[in-house]
Amino acid sequence: MSVLVVAEHLQGRARDVTYELISAARELGGPVTVAVIGGADLDVRREGVDEIVHVRTEQTEFENDVYQAAVESLVAERAPDVVLLGFTVNSMGYGGALAAKLGLGFASDVFSVSRDGDSIVATRAFYGSKVHGEVEFPPGPVLLLLRPTVWAPAPPGGSPAVTEHGLAPVVSRARHKEFREVAKGDVDITTADFLLSIGRGIGEQDAIATFEELAGKLGATLAVSRPIVDAGWMPSARQVGQSGKTVKPKVYLAFGISGAVQHLAGMKTSETIIAVNTDPEAAIFDVAHYGAVADLFEVAEELAKLV
Ligand SMILES: Cc1cc2nc3c(=O)[nH]c(=O)nc-3n(C[C@H](O)[C@H](O)[C@H](O)COP(=O)(O)OP(=O)(O)OC[C@H]3O[C@@H](n4cnc5c(N)ncnc54)[C@H](O)[C@@H]3O)c2cc1C
Repeated sequence: MSVLVVAEHLQGRARDVTYELISAARELGGPVTVAVIGGADLDVRREGVDEIVHVRTEQTEFENDVYQAAVESLVAERAPDVVLLGFTVNSMGYGGALAAKLGLGFASDVFSVSRDGDSIVATRAFYGSKVHGEVEFPPGPVLLLLRPTVWAPAPPGGSPAVTEHGLAPVVSRARHKEFREVAKGDVDITTADFLLSIGRGIGEQDAIATFEELAGKLGATLAVSRPIVDAGWMPSARQVGQSGKTVKPKVYLAFGISGAVQHLAGMKTSETIIAVNTDPEAAIFDVAHYGAVADLFEVAEELAKLV
């Protein structure tokens, strides 16, 4: 079962999801081709990759129409059984449209994929992860958007063939213009190893300073649940969850977060989750590896004394 993985890259660097897609592709057991679309001479060599195909385009960064045309052209030439894209803002922009145009089987937000004879079986989430469903496709090509952070990144290595695929110039209806740095003093919570995450349980805005200080002492990055952003206490770049960022730090320390499905959708694959909540029934304890039924301010005070 041949698999075509579409690499995601940004400013000349592959995004982690690319390597996660390769791991998922390897599980399907067939030849794996990775398509690198755009000017970047990206090195995406990883164990288990048989071929890297560069699609040279005028545009170096992601543009919807360019990716759609490139993947369509690759599918026409190579007829892969499975096309894997990340369930990311970029791929969501064209993946569904392409599958509809080419008549491919399609599922998004997939977090498990396997083969059953000639059929692909994908498990995906619906309604903000409230419902999980298994989708079994009839034999035939499928295009799947896989949820980031679920698969471990494929390890570097291998010696794949490197080829080129020609593509006629594509007129983009939406052009990438520029990158803007995040607001000064803000951070990228998706790359932090240790997140100290606070929720409505902190009670009031004045408490933010206490947790910023604690995060600093612990060497953690401060993240928040949505009510904290909705209240205007922290910028949206810090929000974890379905309508915020998906994170997978080594440690996720949650203070006063109940564990709503929309929050869990963004953090439940964290390596170690520690939850502090006064409510022993809080759903966050269902995903936590360690938990304390305790007042978060008391725990914060004790922690601050230790560092
Ligand atoms: C379409 C949609 C998208 C959404 N996207 C997101 C998203 O991306 N991210 C997100 O976070 N939410 C999101 N939400 C909101 C989500 O449904 C919840 O409302 C939200 O996650 C709740 O945040 P919370 O856990 O901080 O607050 P609450 O649910 O109010 O929980 C506060 C917790 O703090 C505990 N607590 C209170 N005082 C203390 C104390 N002194 N010590 C210890 N514990 C204490 C309480 O027991 C409680 O469990 C979304 C909702 C919708 C409808």
